[in-house]
Amino acid sequence: MKITGDQQLIKKMNKTIVLDTIRQRQPLSRADISAAIGLNKATVSSLVSELIDSRLVTEIGPGESSGGRKPTLLLFNKQAGFAIGVDIRVSDLLAVLVDLEGNVIREKSVPLEDFAPENVMDQIRKTIRQLSRKLPESPYGIVGIGIGVPGLVDEKSHVVSAPNLGWNQIDLLKLLSPDFGSNIHIDNEANAGAIGEKLFGAGIDSQNLIYLSIGIGIGAGIIVGGELYRGVSNFSGEVGHMTIAEDGPLCRCGNRGCWETLASEKALLDQAAQEWPESSVELEDILEVARSGNSTAIELLNRIGSQLGVGLANLVNILNPELIVIGNRLSIAGGLLQDSMLRTIEERSLSYHRNKTHVDFAKLGIRSTALGAASLPITSFLADPDISVES
Ligand SMILES: [Zn+2]
Repeated sequence: MKITGDQQLIKKMNKTIVLDTIRQRQPLSRADISAAIGLNKATVSSLVSELIDSRLVTEIGPGESSGGRKPTLLLFNKQAGFAIGVDIRVSDLLAVLVDLEGNVIREKSVPLEDFAPENVMDQIRKTIRQLSRKLPESPYGIVGIGIGVPGLVDEKSHVVSAPNLGWNQIDLLKLLSPDFGSNIHIDNEANAGAIGEKLFGAGIDSQNLIYLSIGIGIGAGIIVGGELYRGVSNFSGEVGHMTIAEDGPLCRCGNRGCWETLASEKALLDQAAQEWPESSVELEDILEVARSGNSTAIELLNRIGSQLGVGLANLVNILNPELIVIGNRLSIAGGLLQDSMLRTIEERSLSYHRNKTHVDFAKLGIRSTALGAASLPITSFLADPDISVES
């Protein structure tokens, strides 16, 4: 029988559905899969055999019988391959090597001083090679690489602009693919962070969430109905530049009173520099003295918290989210700005809108972006499971 193009496509889709079902509900039997997705047992068995041949699925000992022969259970082979996620930050590169379920196998942070693209690419190449050395034995090895960039990344993965790195129109794919192949994904760091928290962190159970990356600036990754909302050019989520104070401080974008001039880590450090002009103060210093009861530090953090609340109240009213996750650097301030932030959201958002909204801090800590970036090539790899094992 000749298989038509359509039939091949349907077979591929069914295989992806079978693999997804195994990943989500493992361990389970062929009969469980058949019952879960409504494909007949013979088709499921044949697709499972192919997944076992390609070593993405393994069999384990028999499970509970509901009468008759005990069924063999299936597991997703999470170590069939690995991926690398890189978060390009203004102070350093954070890179993680993960298995296909996003478990961190190795991690490396490399300080960055020179942001010239070729230098950063050299550091990335070196770091990827170090993390890839002496991998556990696996059929696929490194399946791909994901990179989070603090800037605008368009739908073709071009970095259009990353002001804090001084980058304009940089084609990272072109720079990296000669060394690492084609399964390379470049995305905005807040988008990657949102995906990281959705898949592995605070947002696992939420379909509608906003991940806020608060560092030097403020960016957001917005997840709607379980999927990242990207906008027409992949530029969604630049919430740091919504105007909060008409005549507020001058922003690096040229506007005045943008949210990030009032509520970012940089806003906090600028205000701290006015209070303590003699010393160079870091976020960690402010948190430490606030914890020991210093009223100036506590007041500064309260002010940042309420300015965060003002912007968040706007987002709650516009998007009615289930969850807001505060991530990146300012997440380490946690409880010290939480009360003033929540109070302001309460005062300024519409009650029906905030009724079911929770605010949480990133569960993955500083790894949200690196882990989300690593998940991008894994998703592509698993969406095309007709991969032959290299021998
Ligand atoms: Zn701005």
